[in-house]
Amino acid sequence: MQGLIFDIKRYAVHDGPGIRTTVFFKGCPLHCWWCHNPEGIRKETEEVVTVHKMEGKDYTVKETVGRWMSVDEVMREINKERIFMEESGGGVTFSGGEPLWQTEFLEDLLLACKREDFHTAVDTTGHTSRQNIRKIMDLTDLFLYDLKLMDDSKHVKYTGVSNRYILENLEFLAACDKRIYIRFPVIPTINDDEENINRTLRLLGSMAKAVEEVDLLPYHAMAAHKYEKFHMEYKMGGVPEPGEQEMEQLKERFEEAGFKVKIGG
Ligand code: SF4
Repeated sequence: MQGLIFDIKRYAVHDGPGIRTTVFFKGCPLHCWWCHNPEGIRKETEEVVTVHKMEGKDYTVKETVGRWMSVDEVMREINKERIFMEESGGGVTFSGGEPLWQTEFLEDLLLACKREDFHTAVDTTGHTSRQNIRKIMDLTDLFLYDLKLMDDSKHVKYTGVSNRYILENLEFLAACDKRIYIRFPVIPTINDDEENINRTLRLLGSMAKAVEEVDLLPYHAMAAHKYEKFHMEYKMGGVPEPGEQEMEQLKERFEEAGFKVKIGG
């Protein structure tokens, strides 16, 4: 079996504990306005052209984004960093895109990781069937679970899908005592309002035992230039990045509610 991967990042320190190798699956059922990995959204390889300027001249470079890889090929890459993972208490993180959009391939990779004794994390939107969650949950040591908006109509507007499966699957994983880090992107004017923060805190409070950490991820506009390259519309023009003070205040709110909080992953 093969899976479509768009990047493998070594020495990752923001995708779970320790030093990790993060494998990025290509394809995501969501289309978040603020996505900083637009190259991970389409579930197909893409030919893109980048223009580099050098000494007043333009040089165009064509590249294919996305590569079909076998489990063995991915495991060979992962094994290159085994020593750093072991010494740092790290492991492997499967991210994207949405790794659960290629559930069978993800399951095979998790099985291979478990056979080779790697700590495993899955960074997911949670927008998938319960059947898919069940397939991988016992092979996953840690879930990095994205939570964006509690209001369903806003969720549909800004991500393209309802949050129903996302919330139900989160509650299910918490009830199964899975280890969970919540990943909350902080996006001014979209999800940092009182109502969304209060509803998020209420939900997390109801599953506090399972939530080991909350990672507050400040929105940044650094990926804006990528949208043109991938022929996608960038809808975030005019949305400001959150300031340091806002991030600190939010951190305090979540800490006061009893959570361990990190700014960034
Ligand atoms: S869920 Fe993540 S990868 Fe998918 S569109 Fe949203 S931000 Fe991008």
